[in-house]
Amino acid sequence: MKRDGHTHTHYCLHGSGEETEAFIIKAIQEGFGMYSLTEHLPLPKKFLAATPYSQEFEESIDFDSYIRDMQKLKKKYKDRIKILIGAEVDYLPEVQEYTRMILNEYGPYFEDSILSVHFIKGTKGWRCVDYNIQDYQEGLMEYYTTYEQVHRGYYRTVKEALQADLGKYKPKRIGHLTICRKFQLHFDPQGLQRQAAGDQVLDLLVYMREHGYSLDMNVAGLFKEECLETYVPQWVVQTAKKLEIPMVYGSDAHAVQEVGRAYDVYEKMISI
Ligand code: ZN
Ligand code: FE
Repeated sequence: MKRDGHTHTHYCLHGSGEETEAFIIKAIQEGFGMYSLTEHLPLPKKFLAATPYSQEFEESIDFDSYIRDMQKLKKKYKDRIKILIGAEVDYLPEVQEYTRMILNEYGPYFEDSILSVHFIKGTKGWRCVDYNIQDYQEGLMEYYTTYEQVHRGYYRTVKEALQADLGKYKPKRIGHLTICRKFQLHFDPQGLQRQAAGDQVLDLLVYMREHGYSLDMNVAGLFKEECLETYVPQWVVQTAKKLEIPMVYGSDAHAVQEVGRAYDVYEKMISI
């Protein structure tokens, strides 16, 4: 059965703003039988204050009404598609008590969720790995000094995320594990770092297998002009397969037209 395990909704502040219902109708048209709504959990002010982005990320969504709205849609379409309600949960170093608290509050309503690392330590506090090239340059390249070291810093944080005690509602699927490669064609135009920090990636995969985690096989990177690669790339898919780590397709759709994108690429990659 076709399943999309990573999507956003009209609640997303950096999405297209189109109605979630239109995303769901598109998923039905594309033949999906299962569809996870994984909106970003709000970030705490305390964390934002320790980033240079407090202005950009200032607005926050009403998660109660998100859950209520999604429950209505789930019911409305229950005969046509199985909708799973959940969230994309950020691993936020140093504010784990917040994440534990918010997961304890909303976790009982979640049916499928993702744990993602978007922020790691960098220049002037916590920095996004997927914001833009200039931000990556200033926040991460200048802090870690080499592109490979940025990867190492990212994967260290993912390891922390895997080991963190976030309570019983901690998601068991890791979002876009290699998103630190989003600007690879800019920072590594010759592809010399195609398997950067591969030893750490292997270590993460082994840990994931031992602790029952699955992988978000996220195709969003294919559509970023500085990436043109899935998160995770083929060499990681291969290893994950050997280790029998379940992989779930994720469109990471932020717009209706992105629902179900590159599903054929995903199918091909996991069949090799
Ligand atoms: Zn994400
Ligand atoms: Fe996402």
